[in-house]
Amino acid sequence: MTVRNGREFLSIPGPTTVPDEVLQAMHRPAIEIYGGKLLDITLSCLEDLRWVFKTTGDTYIYAANGHGAWEAALTNVLSKGDKILVLESGRFALGWGEAAAAFGVDVEVLPGGWDRAVDVEAVEKRLRADTGGDIKAVLVVQVDTATSVVNDIPAIRRAIDAAGHNALYMVDTIASLATMEFDMDGWGVDVAVGGAQKGLMTPPGLSFNAANAKAKAAHQNAGLKTPYWSWTPRDEKIHYRKYSGTPPVHLLYGLRKALDMLKEEGLENVSLRHSLLAEAVRRAVQVWSEANVINFVISNSVDRANSVTSVTLNGDYDVARLLKYCEEKCGVVLGVGIGDNSEITFRIAHMGHINAPMILGTLSVVEIGLGALDIPHGKGGLQAAISWLADNVAA
Ligand SMILES: *Cc1c(COP(=O)(O)O)cnc(C)c1O
Repeated sequence: MTVRNGREFLSIPGPTTVPDEVLQAMHRPAIEIYGGKLLDITLSCLEDLRWVFKTTGDTYIYAANGHGAWEAALTNVLSKGDKILVLESGRFALGWGEAAAAFGVDVEVLPGGWDRAVDVEAVEKRLRADTGGDIKAVLVVQVDTATSVVNDIPAIRRAIDAAGHNALYMVDTIASLATMEFDMDGWGVDVAVGGAQKGLMTPPGLSFNAANAKAKAAHQNAGLKTPYWSWTPRDEKIHYRKYSGTPPVHLLYGLRKALDMLKEEGLENVSLRHSLLAEAVRRAVQVWSEANVINFVISNSVDRANSVTSVTLNGDYDVARLLKYCEEKCGVVLGVGIGDNSEITFRIAHMGHINAPMILGTLSVVEIGLGALDIPHGKGGLQAAISWLADNVAA
């Protein structure tokens, strides 16, 4: 017996729910790729990505997932043997650093906890100690999708400046772009990396780089450039060169539509919607945690991201069983844990094309699962989420 027939809720932190409008925009025959309509779509997407990243720098679209955009960012500004500093706050900055190491980059990790944001003072201290300026780049994620931490990107820039350090500042926004504020130019980010399938509501397969003048200057001397990832051919006028080959036509139609939807809502409203719905999730988890079985992965409430919430169950209870129940009995797919402590962690995504009924529906099903599986939890989590929204979504 199940109550799952009906629309399934995909509550995983990427790929996220693709709006019907985006799917419909992609449902069309293939078209000519050397100019015409597709050139306009490319140029308008590149321009609107500037708007999303908040930069006057150059933007690039890759027919690749986020791992591809990572490699693009690294190979466009670094050379073999360069030293970089990776700021740990979960799985993803480490993964980006592992890619750099595979290219022969000398990677130093500034260790961090998996329960908290990057320690900004430790960044400043490490950079001050680099009196020879050996560190060529500092890599960090805005939101780590494993831990659900949000790092303070402008504060890390202030730390780099306070140390008087000249390293490139490179930020992965894959799990945060179009879910919360990101201000590439205002915050002094030199290279930003994004992906289509999270806040940007587009099917997986597109990812992005944004580069300011300082990054473009470093690009001139970068030894790791390859024909495919390099920004240089992509800066040319010829449309085919902008993708180093055939453009991902249908994904571009999808991205165009998703950007139109974001423009219509406005980035400030997009951020506000995410912050309200994220807080509804946190209110519910807070109540569930009262029985000391459920807990937030991120200890400090100000470090919790607005795009995903990672939750632990203590070792007496089986996370996989809870996720299986939610999916098979009720049609809600939650995110599995990844990285350290993955076997005791699950993730509730609240990014992209989400609204109150989707979030409340997801939370209700978690609460149903906790009840059905006799997992001790504070009562009234869903009500706390509802009350939060009732008090904060003005009439
Ligand atoms: C999802 C994610 C990635 C990886 O993106 P893929 O498209 O899966 O390659 C990288 N960084 C962050 C922060 C992510 O959330």
